Amino acid sequence: LGSAPGKIMNGHFASTGGEATREQYERGIQVIDEDKEFSDKLSTYLQYEKIIPAGFNYHIISVFGSQSTGKSTLLNYLFGTEFGVMSEQERRQTTKGIWMSKNKRSGAERESRRMADNILVMDVEGTDGRERGEDQDFERKSALFALATSEILIVNIWEHQVGLYQGANMGLLKTVFEVNLQLFIKDSKSIPRSLLFFVIRDHIGSTPLSNLRNTLLADLARIWDSLSKPAGLENSRIQDYFDFAFVALPHKILQPEKFEQEVEKLSTRFREGYRDKKTEGLIDQDDQPLLLPEYHRRIPADGFPVYAEGVWDQIVHNKDLDLPTQQELLAQFRCDEIAREVLVFFDEQIAPLESQQSRDAQAGTPSVIANLGKIMNASRAGVFKDFETEASRYHKGVYSRKRTELEENVDKRLKDLFQGQLQAAHKAGIKGFSDSVSSAVKVGQKKGAHYDFAQIVESEKTSAYTRFEEVAAAAMIEGASWSNAAREIALFKKELDQVSSQLRKEEMRRLATRVERWVRSRLGESIGLEFNKLGSGRGGSGAPETGDNLKQSSTSEKEIWDRIWSIFIKTVSEAEERFTDRAKSYDASSEEVEVGIWRLRRKSWGVLRAKIEEETSEGNIGMKLRENFEDRFRYDEHGVPRVWRPSDDIDGLFARARDHTLTLIPLLSRFKLSTTSGPPPLDEWIGLAPATVTAADEEDLTPIGGVDEEEGKSLEEEMLVFSDGRVADVERRFRKTADSVYVDAKRGALGGVTQ
Ligand code: GDP
Ligand code: MG
Repeated sequence: LGSAPGKIMNGHFASTGGEATREQYERGIQVIDEDKEFSDKLSTYLQYEKIIPAGFNYHIISVFGSQSTGKSTLLNYLFGTEFGVMSEQERRQTTKGIWMSKNKRSGAERESRRMADNILVMDVEGTDGRERGEDQDFERKSALFALATSEILIVNIWEHQVGLYQGANMGLLKTVFEVNLQLFIKDSKSIPRSLLFFVIRDHIGSTPLSNLRNTLLADLARIWDSLSKPAGLENSRIQDYFDFAFVALPHKILQPEKFEQEVEKLSTRFREGYRDKKTEGLIDQDDQPLLLPEYHRRIPADGFPVYAEGVWDQIVHNKDLDLPTQQELLAQFRCDEIAREVLVFFDEQIAPLESQQSRDAQAGTPSVIANLGKIMNASRAGVFKDFETEASRYHKGVYSRKRTELEENVDKRLKDLFQGQLQAAHKAGIKGFSDSVSSAVKVGQKKGAHYDFAQIVESEKTSAYTRFEEVAAAAMIEGASWSNAAREIALFKKELDQVSSQLRKEEMRRLATRVERWVRSRLGESIGLEFNKLGSGRGGSGAPETGDNLKQSSTSEKEIWDRIWSIFIKTVSEAEERFTDRAKSYDASSEEVEVGIWRLRRKSWGVLRAKIEEETSEGNIGMKLRENFEDRFRYDEHGVPRVWRPSDDIDGLFARARDHTLTLIPLLSRFKLSTTSGPPPLDEWIGLAPATVTAADEEDLTPIGGVDEEEGKSLEEEMLVFSDGRVADVERRFRKTADSVYVDAKRGALGGVTQ
């Protein structure tokens, strides 16, 4: 993970190994050919020579001079290059255009005198060439090119040419100076200095080098003075732009050994060093290093091919060569290229996660990606570090702009991943929470134990919250201000609360159902008993049937509704207590409890109504009335069955018993309290719907007359057990039953048949 230095640049250059390439580049590369075409192989060559990854650790040196002055020969000796040289016999121009080759020598044995790394030497076509005739144009253009790129310009000159002001070399130098003024006029602040290094050939020795040097310096000053300078630069001195160095070499053919010795010595001066303040522009001491930092053009090696080509293109098309602009263009081009390259590795890490996330999101099954934070952090740090390593060498303004662009691009993608992760964690967390609460409740129910719902919710909530915070923390990106989950964490917490309250509602519904069931069974029993008492008119006391007893029994019958109502109220209030206790332990709010009780009362009323209907159904009521009647008619005050004798007042007993039972029918036809002679205060007891009741709370409720006004049914109607029609019908049936019992009694008395 992270930085992938090996990846950078490799994609850009075809494989450069192999014998063919070695042969192809043995003699360097022709950067610019005789048709002024720039080579498309320069970057391949620099890759082959391993210069591309060198950053600023490389140097460019050019050589100038009249044709056939032994320039190529000198370079080959100095740098072990294999530039073409003219054979002694032929005397024809060999170097065409501009060639470049890497230094092949390693220099001296002693480390302190070792040649600099990665020296690139440019052999520039000689001037006043026979082939080109007086091609001033090419001479000018190649001088511009060399000046724009090179740290050292070697001026190769015969000793006998020194002082010949009209000589070809001086013409060339005039060109170099003019071109230099033209080149750097744009931006006088950023003028890099160059070293003009005079190599005086075939030095016989009779004139000391210092004399030759003074002559040359005087000539140079004269040339400089003669130039017409652009406005603002009228008083500029040649030393403002150039340093100078001089060396003299012996005759190569007459003194070959001395020549080689001197060249050997000279080669070691191509090493890096610092300016000696005393020299004042003359790098002229024996053995002084030549490669000073201020000569470097500060073009990163990997950008050199593009830069050089851009510069040449401007030169060839006679455009004003504006180096700062060229450097900005280069920076833009290379920064974009580097950004693409560093993003390749970033993509390998991040793109699969992006597509996984979007696939899952589309399928509606967002999932938390394992190790996302780690991968994102490493990829982000890696991509920025790679970019910085390669791109920060370029123009600072462009670099920082491009870095911002890259950061925005990278961070936008990471931010999406980050948020997708939090969304997935949110969804999974909420679902996990409600699932684990449900299953904990199920386990609690199975055990039958009194499980603590509130505690289950609390502990599952805490663990869901902690898990979410952990995922959020793990997805956090170091140093990215946008990677902040505070809002998401708050949202998650809020939804947890909502879901908890939903779950509590459901749990309360379950509780309410349990309590209702309890009410149903309690009422079933106790209300059933009340109705059964009707069957034993005298309360089965066995006490003699005195007037008191009769009165008691009928009083007790008359109060059946009072008792039912009070049993009902008492049962429901017990149920309410159970409900409230339990609901409080769920952390239910008092509003929720209030709604629950309201519902419970209404439902309980329904239960009671159903029980009453059951007890007063056609079959049941007939049986109850018959039992009530028979109990009085067929049994004596001691509860002993009567054996009818003709002397018995059958008619009287019959009429009393029947009339008594007949009073029950209107009594039972309406739920009415004896104390008020009105319906029970059901409306008051249920009360108004609490303010917090929702539609869902009301969904399964049956309307109650007199309570739900809009039903158009009064409380009286709600309390109606039989209609008037039904009263008559029940009475008619009862009379029939009683009559047949009477007939049987009569018959028994006459026949003396006991039953
Ligand atoms: P270039 O055109 O400047 O690159 O010159 P070359 O390197 O091709 O050499 C031109 C000719 O000068 C060749 O015949 C060389 O043998 C010869 N030559 C090279 N070095 C010297 C030298 O130091 N002194 C003299 N007199 N001749 C040389
Ligand atoms: Mg040559």
